[in-house]
Amino acid sequence: MDLHEYEAKQLFGEYGVRLVEGEIADTPDQVRLAAGRIGRKVVVKAQVKTGGRGKAGGVKVADGPEHARARAEEILGMDIKGHTVRRVLVEEASDIAEEYYFSFLLDRANRTFLSICSAQGGMEIEEVAVTDPDAVVRTPVGPEGVDRAAALEICRAAKLPEEVHDCAAATIVQLWEAAVGEDATLVEVNPLVRTADGRIIALDGKMTLDDNAAFRHPERVPFADDSDTDPRELRAVEKGLNYVKLDGEVGIIGNGAGLVMSTLDVVAYAGEEHGGVKPANFLDIGGGASAEIMADGLDIILGDPAVKSVFVNVFGGITACDAVANGIVQALELLESRGDDVSKPLVVRLDGNNAELGRRILTERAHPAVRQVDTMDGAAAQAAELAAA
Ligand code: GDP
Ligand code: MN
Repeated sequence: MDLHEYEAKQLFGEYGVRLVEGEIADTPDQVRLAAGRIGRKVVVKAQVKTGGRGKAGGVKVADGPEHARARAEEILGMDIKGHTVRRVLVEEASDIAEEYYFSFLLDRANRTFLSICSAQGGMEIEEVAVTDPDAVVRTPVGPEGVDRAAALEICRAAKLPEEVHDCAAATIVQLWEAAVGEDATLVEVNPLVRTADGRIIALDGKMTLDDNAAFRHPERVPFADDSDTDPRELRAVEKGLNYVKLDGEVGIIGNGAGLVMSTLDVVAYAGEEHGGVKPANFLDIGGGASAEIMADGLDIILGDPAVKSVFVNVFGGITACDAVANGIVQALELLESRGDDVSKPLVVRLDGNNAELGRRILTERAHPAVRQVDTMDGAAAQAAELAAA
């Protein structure tokens, strides 16, 4: 889960990272009032989960409450890389002397965390990484983590000015504690600034929390923000299904992540013969393929207008194929009784435990949308062909 800047900063604050005073606001009038309370020059900052807000005009300095309100009117409703701004952060403006870059991120390839630090932070950091790669220093974090000595080493390697090492190292240790304490896969501060009066402040904040560790952080549930998530993905999460929307035309339902992944490959391969038809999603119904689970899965997939055909690929194990077949039959009846359209072709391949019985159940029911194919390759080819039709 990616956090908004104001959420990341809230967490940073809990770990002692120095920030500036700020308030969030959803309307220009709230911004005016917030600026009045802060009582000095402020910055109005778009809260959207994407980078480059500054360059897009989503970060603006204002001289007083009225000016801040006008700035908010410009920023609220703005579209930044497909994200509509609905909320802004109003912060006391800082007098910036220098901008640095700092982040910790999970380096999956090397199975470690990595710190990235540069004395040339700010909005041009990507440019700096290309034109002057040595100015962006990457240091792997060992299993012992980041203590003061390690943080000082990072400051030296990145050639931060000597006089900020003390404060910057303290901030780096706090950011490491935040990363570990919150199970984050990314903590980024760009810019980390030195103010004219010599303070080190996290002026921006980005944080990605590891969803696999969410159960350890029930207090962070309020951070989950659905407004940017595909509604079908939300429904799948509600139903406990593993669903990922992709951009093709063949809906995929399978039991078990391994089978579903290989189904994606087989469908994409078969689709090449049909003008590049591709999987429309990944949906793993897991071990139990009851009527209800099957109905939830079919409901989500058939409701996706991009889906032209569906491939149900099940290998019966503990849940035998006859149970799955009954699940499919009941699911279709359930959806039909609700008045849902279930006319999209459904290619079903059943194999494994009680496959014969399962196939017979579907044959006897003879639902017009359902056709059975015995092999995975054959079924994929047919689903791709139907999607292309
Ligand atoms: P981003 O573009 O989405 O990364 O947004 P940032 O929060 O990093 O802001 C972008 C840039 O705006 C920073 O690099 C600063 O140069 C500038 N900026 C942000 N806050 C302030 C502030 O309080 N005072 C001044 N003078 N500039 C600021
Ligand atoms: Mn930034």
